[in-house]
Amino acid sequence: MCWLCGQQIDLTLPREHRMSWTADHLDPISLGGAPRDASLLRPAHRACNSSRGNRMTSQVRRQGVQTSEVW
Ligand SMILES: [Zn+2]
Repeated sequence: MCWLCGQQIDLTLPREHRMSWTADHLDPISLGGAPRDASLLRPAHRACNSSRGNRMTSQVRRQGVQTSEVW
């Protein structure tokens, strides 16, 4: 089950398929969570994961600028 779109993931698809299974890795440090909580892997379609990942990257960049201003 994809945690981003809520639809089932076909585990038999080849890895390069855009609807194949990927483990969506949430970096607890970049999200401001506890570093010891390392179980933030969620199943997601490759397409869902990458579209979300692009959004995440821009957010992290903005947060990174704010962080460097604070430092
Ligand atoms: Zn999905």
